[in-house]
Amino acid sequence: MEILDHLGQDCILVAFQSRKSTHFSYPQAVPCFQFSHFPGQPIVSLDSPSSKSLSHEESAGAARAARTAMKLDEQGIPLVGGARVADPPLEPTPEFLAELSKESESLENETPQAILKWAVDRYAPKFTMATAFGPEGMTIIHMLAEIAPETPVFNLETGYQFEETLQLRERVRERYGMTVEYKYPKLTVEEFERENGGPIYATDPNRCCFERKLRVLHEAARGWHAWASAIRRDQSEDRAKAPIVGWDRKFQLVKISPLANWTKQQVWSLISKQEIPYNPLHDQGYPSIGCQPCTRSVMAGEDERSGRWSGFQKTECGLHN
Ligand code: SF4
Repeated sequence: MEILDHLGQDCILVAFQSRKSTHFSYPQAVPCFQFSHFPGQPIVSLDSPSSKSLSHEESAGAARAARTAMKLDEQGIPLVGGARVADPPLEPTPEFLAELSKESESLENETPQAILKWAVDRYAPKFTMATAFGPEGMTIIHMLAEIAPETPVFNLETGYQFEETLQLRERVRERYGMTVEYKYPKLTVEEFERENGGPIYATDPNRCCFERKLRVLHEAARGWHAWASAIRRDQSEDRAKAPIVGWDRKFQLVKISPLANWTKQQVWSLISKQEIPYNPLHDQGYPSIGCQPCTRSVMAGEDERSGRWSGFQKTECGLHN
């Protein structure tokens, strides 16, 4: 195995020797998820038929070589990013992690507003928030508007979101004077679908989420010290263990979850009492809303997230697990 060339930040050209000849490959050509974060580079146009016949060992070897050369972990996630490249950087040393754990414990019984105030005092102006405009996110935006309306808030605009979701950005601006910034993938939906021979959300939603959400979020996380997350512990098993404050290993910054201890009922009760804007689709049988092609309404008695990626094992887009 030989690394032939680095084709910009996101692509690498790999050569490997088979019994008959030398093949040239690049991660995009290999049909495994680990490689799915490499498209959009010029080399894509040099697709090699031989690269499609990689053996399992060859594929795995090419993946390992590419990851090592590009400083990616087993999931293809950059090993360094987020707060580690901030100015000044934050490193997850054992001492710092112990400090976060202590802070988390001391905030365990505080209100979401007190937790947000603590986060702003401690980390602004290096404190931000990503939102998908769900009820919990809208609740935090409402609280931030009272505590620190200057907090930068952004949304991952995959190009596949519901129109009703996008309209919430305007409603936030009107109600709170806060502008939620859109963060876009490198490729437009048209370019992405052209490159992949059509949409891939129905055939490979993991890769679609990786390209349209996770890659964008990794880039958006660079340079911040901390961000707010809208997760609640009672939403899923994955989320049940979320601390109030902890180190986000995936995105390499401090993650603060002010609503971790809240219930769905508490969230909706505040929305109703304060007339916080929310997605009208929630009133039409959509308890959890993601991109339009991957979200369906649910029937009475179905799980809250069963309308997401219906028909797939997938329950999370990869941002929180
Ligand atoms: S939710 Fe669906 S459309 Fe949106 S990025 Fe994931 S797979 Fe693609």
